[in-house]
Amino acid sequence: MLDKIVIANRGEIALRILRACREMGIKTVAVHSTADRDLKHVRLADESVCIGPPRSVDSYLNIAAVISAAEVTDATGIHPGYGFLSENADFAESVEKSGFVFIGPRAETIRLMGDKISAIAAMSAAGVPCVPGSDGPLPEDVEDCVEIAHRIGYPVIIKAAGGGGGRGMRVVHTEAALRGAIGLTRGEAQAAFNNPVVYMEKFLEAPRHIEFQVIADTHGNAVCLGERDCSTQRRHQKVIEEAPAPGIDAKLKHRMYEICTQACKEINYRGAGTFEFLYENGEFYFIEMNTRLQVEHPVTEMVTGIDLVKTQIRVAAGEKLPFSQKDVEQRGHAIECRINAEDPETFMPSPGTITLYHPPGGPGIRLDTHIYEGYKVPPYYDSMIGKLIAHAENRAFAIARMQNALNEIVVDGIRTNLPLHRDMMADAAFQAGGIDNHYLEKKLGID
Ligand code: ADP
Repeated sequence: MLDKIVIANRGEIALRILRACREMGIKTVAVHSTADRDLKHVRLADESVCIGPPRSVDSYLNIAAVISAAEVTDATGIHPGYGFLSENADFAESVEKSGFVFIGPRAETIRLMGDKISAIAAMSAAGVPCVPGSDGPLPEDVEDCVEIAHRIGYPVIIKAAGGGGGRGMRVVHTEAALRGAIGLTRGEAQAAFNNPVVYMEKFLEAPRHIEFQVIADTHGNAVCLGERDCSTQRRHQKVIEEAPAPGIDAKLKHRMYEICTQACKEINYRGAGTFEFLYENGEFYFIEMNTRLQVEHPVTEMVTGIDLVKTQIRVAAGEKLPFSQKDVEQRGHAIECRINAEDPETFMPSPGTITLYHPPGGPGIRLDTHIYEGYKVPPYYDSMIGKLIAHAENRAFAIARMQNALNEIVVDGIRTNLPLHRDMMADAAFQAGGIDNHYLEKKLGID
């Protein structure tokens, strides 16, 4: 059994995992960098271990340091959260080889899905619809690539096989641009992901980003907990997410639940995961699978009433899923706003000390955050400082609730993107539902 878990992450997700462990009677070990001694979950954890200096590569990404922390504290499992080592197959492998339970999929699954080309091949073989593309890595010869683009039809998008976090992608509209773009993207992919392999997909011009949450146990059961709409994006990064996705035919959604759970069975999936799709003109196209908990998991939790983190821990401990597909129901509507410490106009990070803080409240309001008055947001990590979630009986009420909460919340001393969220909640197209992935950038005047 899992009686003590190392939380190999920081910020709001570390606190979220700690809370789940507490409810389950599991002891917790916080690992943190020297810049993160004042994190809320570090104070609340049963034990804490400093694993290195501020830079992530020296601390949160240091596999040996995280595993040593598990060893010295006699922990039984490691939860990687999202980001950092969560999709690092070598880490998952080292964790298990060292005798700990990795709260996530098998290393081989992470490896398969971590390479977007092998992921697409596996999903295509499992009957999952994919974006028309190069069906593998782009060849060395540019003329061959030109031919592939011609077959797919412009515009196309060049993507890094090892990419993530919205980076390593380049949209190309013409043959002339394509000739230069391939080498550039290869170079960036090598620099950012240590993997120069790129592939090509048809660039869908006005898709929505819709993803399906799955969870699977080690007894052959896989359940889909419904979908999320994450189309409000800036630079391919999600800003607002919601569940369910507005305006999608119920029959089609249920068909997708089946396709996703079937795919889990085909690849012998274990734990929580997300199938990401682009949705355009009534069709779904698979783009990638995330083999971990997602930032936006709370909207699914709010509408299904299922605690994803606790379920992750249970299946990692070898338990059977405590529910089946027919038990899953989406009740009402939930919306999440990602709150970032950044300038609302320039989007430049805005670290610093929070001088005044008033959280919002009321029925259906959930705030997943580690901040408190006097907390100093360090400059070293992702700028997200929390997630505000509103749940209500329908989408219009969820928006109204979110608007109330956004008006109540006060975070002073640093700049945040709260004004952007207030604008979006009042936006007529957002309120109507079903905006596409480019809507926010167009609204912001970004091409
Ligand atoms: P990452 O792993 O970096 O998150 P994804 O493959 O999930 O990259 O793509 C992130 C976002 O980029 C998508 O949500 C979508 O907005 C855009 N995108 C990716 N592929 C395509 C495509 N073929 N056509 C249009 N947009 C795309």
